[in-house]
Amino acid sequence: MNRPRKKPPKKIAVIDPERCFGAFACSICQAACPVEDCIIEEPDVYGRMVCAVRVDKCIGCGLCVTVGNPTAPQPRDFGCPPDYDAIDMEAFDDVVPPEPQPEAKASDAGESAPAS
Ligand code: SF4
Ligand code: SF4
Repeated sequence: MNRPRKKPPKKIAVIDPERCFGAFACSICQAACPVEDCIIEEPDVYGRMVCAVRVDKCIGCGLCVTVGNPTAPQPRDFGCPPDYDAIDMEAFDDVVPPEPQPEAKASDAGESAPAS
């Protein structure tokens, strides 16, 4: 699937690079993911290539998550190997905090300015 996502899901997959076995040594999550180019390889802080989820692509299906990990929203046949269990589903807003909205002006809210 490579259609643009209509809207962000409630949860998205997050890979813990410390737990990832290595992008080129494993990549089971990439095989499980139905969205093209959603799980990419990138260097961790030590320069080791690990998998990472693109927040603009993930549809929140949970198919990459280890079987038995309770954060996944649906049954799956396989996912990140249990020895590593490197992927959790997390609230989208926790991973990508919403843009702060401009504060309403006091006059817009019908409030009067404090007396000086
Ligand atoms: S939750 Fe689904 S779309 Fe997101 S990375 Fe995992 S398999 Fe891909
Ligand atoms: S399935 Fe898990 S251990 Fe394997 S590359 Fe993906 S995140 Fe890393």
